Amino acid sequence: MKVAIMGAGLAGLACSVVLEQYGIVPDIYEAQYKIGARFTNGEAIMNILDYPIEDCFSYLAHQYKVELEPINALKSLVIHGPKDSALITGELGYITARGNHPKALEVQLGDISKAPVFNNNFFTTDDLKDKYDVVVVATGNSNEPKRQQTWETDIVANIIGASIRGHFNPHQAEVWFNDCYAPQGYCFLLPYHSHVASLCLAVPGTEGVDLEVLWQKFLAGLDWEFSIKDTFTLHSFEIGRNKSLVTENLVFIGHAGGFVMPFLGFGQFTSMLSGFEAAIAIANSNLQSYIDAMQPLIESYYPSLKMRRVLAGMDNHKYNLVIKILQNKYANTVFSKFPLPVLKAAAAVLDPFTSINPELH
Ligand SMILES: Cc1cc2nc3c(=O)[nH]c(=O)nc-3n(C[C@H](O)[C@H](O)[C@H](O)COP(=O)(O)OP(=O)(O)OC[C@H]3O[C@@H](n4cnc5c(N)ncnc54)[C@H](O)[C@@H]3O)c2cc1C
Repeated sequence: MKVAIMGAGLAGLACSVVLEQYGIVPDIYEAQYKIGARFTNGEAIMNILDYPIEDCFSYLAHQYKVELEPINALKSLVIHGPKDSALITGELGYITARGNHPKALEVQLGDISKAPVFNNNFFTTDDLKDKYDVVVVATGNSNEPKRQQTWETDIVANIIGASIRGHFNPHQAEVWFNDCYAPQGYCFLLPYHSHVASLCLAVPGTEGVDLEVLWQKFLAGLDWEFSIKDTFTLHSFEIGRNKSLVTENLVFIGHAGGFVMPFLGFGQFTSMLSGFEAAIAIANSNLQSYIDAMQPLIESYYPSLKMRRVLAGMDNHKYNLVIKILQNKYANTVFSKFPLPVLKAAAAVLDPFTSINPELH
């Protein structure tokens, strides 16, 4: 069987690695000059946000025979509101590296895969679909699903970020909610070394968002020492759903499959899962089984979207209230002990907050 994969990112390489286990070696077409040729950053995989399993990396090793390493376990999360902060501790998940880093997840998957990667190739599905039995679309954006008219955008995010040098607890992430510099969004710090971390600001909006002004306000409020190594800006990062994961011989995975969760824009684990499951379905010549396998993830998209809408309806007064709740000692137990159902439950409990911003429904 001849298989092409468009995109040597997380989802595309995950798909390739499992296809190869079945003896199918795909041709991978990558737009960039090498795997991981993007900004280097730290990202998180959090048990509470991803999937109802206890340990993502053991799950991948056990279920798909793919051994990957995070940078560090995530053991504490500091949540800063406008006035106070709350600390959540426990086995919260992992910090991973992405992009141009030797332990970046895409680099690790690229090391496992033996499939040829044809770099500097920016094709469309029209260029490939007649030459292959199956074309896997793993391009990390909504361009191809939009061309197929199967895409619905729920959120357009704008992100500005930097690698910073300083002194960090490598097991601790921090997140800031404050509508003075992150209206309807948030800022976060994820260390991927004790001396290097990613610091990012993400806000929704299609126009009139002056990221640089918000970023400078955020940086000005930080009262610890750091220096900026390099910065990046991403405008119009679209999070949405792909209504048709399989169209003729095209299979959509990762971000192109709609597997970035809207609440905080997390999509690493879900993108890899979609790649693994697509590979199994392709190897078994049963593409419908990919759609079936993805149902739990598709369903978990909606509570995540609801939480996203709750966030969009928050202001500094409400952030202060939530921080007070999180400071309660029982909140820590809930966050650290239970996986996805917490998100579903929180979405239901916080439902009244969504009415604050009805146009987002
Ligand atoms: C700043 C930022 C922070 C994030 N933080 C987190 C986080 O903390 N936790 C989390 O879980 N998720 C996070 N995410 C989301 C996560 O990174 C994505 O969900 C994940 O990378 C999606 O994987 P993918 O394989 O679909 O896309 P990617 O990993 O982006 O790979 C897509 C690949 O396709 C290539 N490509 C594009 N077009 C073509 C084409 N036409 N032909 C060939 N190749 C093409 C690209 O060059 C790229 O290599 C973050 C995203 C961003 C932008």
